[in-house]
Amino acid sequence: MRHPQSLADIVTNGLCIGCGLCESMAGPDRVSMVMVDPPGRLRPKILQPLDSSTEQEIIRACPGVTIDQPMDARTHPQAEIDTVFGPWINVWRGHASDPYIHHVASSGGALTALGIYLLESGKVDFILHVAASTEQPMRSVRHLSFDRAQVVEATGSRYGPAAPLVDFKQLLDRGKRFAVIGKPCDISAVHNMCKLDPRVDDLVAYTLAFSCGTFADLNCSHAMLHRNGIASEDEVSLFRYRGYGCPGPTHAETKDGRAVDEAYRDFWYGPWGWTHQFRCKICPDPTGEMTDISVADAWPGGGPSEEEWGGWNLFISRTNKGDELMKEAHDKGVLHLETSDISAIYECQPHQAVKIQGMEARLSAIEQEGQVGPRFVHLRLSDAAARTDAEFQNRNREGTRERIKKGVNREPLA
Ligand SMILES: Cc1cc2nc3c(=O)[nH]c(=O)nc-3n(C[C@H](O)[C@H](O)[C@H](O)COP(=O)(O)OP(=O)(O)OC[C@H]3O[C@@H](n4cnc5c(N)ncnc54)[C@H](O)[C@@H]3O)c2cc1C
Ligand code: SF4
Ligand code: SF4
Repeated sequence: MRHPQSLADIVTNGLCIGCGLCESMAGPDRVSMVMVDPPGRLRPKILQPLDSSTEQEIIRACPGVTIDQPMDARTHPQAEIDTVFGPWINVWRGHASDPYIHHVASSGGALTALGIYLLESGKVDFILHVAASTEQPMRSVRHLSFDRAQVVEATGSRYGPAAPLVDFKQLLDRGKRFAVIGKPCDISAVHNMCKLDPRVDDLVAYTLAFSCGTFADLNCSHAMLHRNGIASEDEVSLFRYRGYGCPGPTHAETKDGRAVDEAYRDFWYGPWGWTHQFRCKICPDPTGEMTDISVADAWPGGGPSEEEWGGWNLFISRTNKGDELMKEAHDKGVLHLETSDISAIYECQPHQAVKIQGMEARLSAIEQEGQVGPRFVHLRLSDAAARTDAEFQNRNREGTRERIKKGVNREPLA
């Protein structure tokens, strides 16, 4: 398969996920993340030509292009390897013990509770994650938390574009220990950076990710406003995608005091449909193999329902450090936990297993169509595919071929 040779190649071939790392690496005078609207995606705008060494480093670090992290590089001898979902030491079902966090959070409040615990136990100086923008509450911005209130401010799933790594290198310059909470691809970027910058191993003390199916283009959030009688994003004073119950509705408030709700399932599965970037269709690691702890919704029945179900997380500890953090958080009363097993992730996230098992076929379609594609190694994609039959593989290959023929993997430069 051909791979990108430049930052422009990454974007135009539909491989960018909008994490912002390239802005941090090149500097905002040369690369700046901008909202490409429509469809509402954060993409790097190249303001000045890049020197070859910076461009090559960006290609190596960009999580849209490169996922390459051998297990033994992260020293966790106790971990077993599940063919589909990767390394695991222990699996639990549970939620934040604090009832307020449990209620307002996306599902069980696990990430918020763990973020607070990391800060209050002195294990890290700050948390890097994302939160709603104060100026434009429908948009998401990179967020730093130094105390409980700031972590709680960032609670909840932001199902639109977000660039948490927009100043990642500059955060390393602070010389403080921090944790990163993000999508699996955000965490892959951090791991790619380990190979380029030795400070990452010393300063990024923990990485936590949630199971991620994709996120919607910002236009989908604009459409939700319009469906509910709000003419413009400028009128919005608060916008959240879920939470305050589980799943909780997509909720908007306006500066003149109106409040509208749309059911979670309607936002995603209503007749209007939704759009998202191509790269998520070829995401080989939707549950975050590279993290210390992965967290998912423990959906009863394996998928979202509108029923309030209490909101539980599934936790997978993947490294010794992550495993110790989980046990400590349980012992200190931060998390309510019940022992589970790796089979539970297949039960509550079946769409992710299906996606990973079809990945080899999807990637082969990119190659066969002569397209520029990513470089995914050390992910056992052939072994995962071997669990399925030829018809399944063919369906995945043809689906990707169709998408390529429609041009969904092509994006203009910002
Ligand atoms: C884009 C996206 C896709 C998702 N896809 C799935 C899925 O396929 N299956 C599934 O089970 N669950 C999915 N979820 C929900 C996710 O599983 C839950 O958020 C997770 O269970 C954590 O719940 P929590 O209650 O512990 O999170 P909370 O305690 O509410 O904390 C959420 C944390 O995630 C951070 N965060 C929120 N949005 C983003 C973002 N866009 N980028 C980076 N960091 C962010 C916040 O800063 C916060 O720290 C998705 C969430 C998002 C944001
Ligand atoms: S995925 Fe991140 S690093 Fe790669 S091009 Fe997009 S914004 Fe830049
Ligand atoms: S599906 Fe994968 S590539 Fe897309 S946002 Fe989620 S983790 Fe990133």
